[in-house]
Amino acid sequence: MIKTDLRGRDITDERVLEVMGSLPREQFVPAAYKTSAYADCPLPIGAGQTISQPYIVALMTQELAVKAEDVVLEIGTGSGYQAAILARLANKVYTIERIVALSKSAQQVLAKLGITNVEFYIGDGSCGWPKSRLPDKGFFDKIMITAAVPAIPQPLIEQLGHEGLIVAPVGTGSVQQLVVGQKKADKLAERVICDVRFVKLIGKYSFSQ
Ligand code: SAH
Repeated sequence: MIKTDLRGRDITDERVLEVMGSLPREQFVPAAYKTSAYADCPLPIGAGQTISQPYIVALMTQELAVKAEDVVLEIGTGSGYQAAILARLANKVYTIERIVALSKSAQQVLAKLGITNVEFYIGDGSCGWPKSRLPDKGFFDKIMITAAVPAIPQPLIEQLGHEGLIVAPVGTGSVQQLVVGQKKADKLAERVICDVRFVKLIGKYSFSQ
């Protein structure tokens, strides 16, 4: 996976390659898919949701340029795989999932792996992290949305720090564009990376169903 699908394409960030090389992806997929865990394709994780293909996980992580001191918000915990990668790269990760069973299962996997710098919340991630429980500094350095949004939800732009980065699949069709936005003067300067295919983010500031 690392040699062919990541390094063999345009994943060059050694920290991302090291973390993805050391994290057991098979622990994040249902038993029936364990033998395909390292194939470069998305896999079902239950409740009609999917874990993204390794290349896209690596690309989104690389684009987020996570530093060791960063506080990161992830929307769409799913299997917990992306949260675990971010946790190994950042200081602290906050992750939101709307489906209870997926969040619970992700919490168990991360606990088993000894990853303790992740806070989980069950609810609508399009509204951002609950204001009463924001990290001390009151904003996030980086935000990653791992489900498709019609546009980057305003509450997430508000919770991003100055010059902070947000990575998200944006679009209303079955194919979306992977966008990297940087916050400058309360607005996002957006750059398109490539076409991607994600399940929808369902919420107040996203798709209604
Ligand atoms: N990052 C995940 C993959 C996520 S798939 C991983 O590494 O496995 C997208 C996830 O977003 C699904 O689990 C879906 O239930 C969740 N989701 C959809 N709408 C949401 C919302 N409004 N808030 C939080 N999570 C949401």
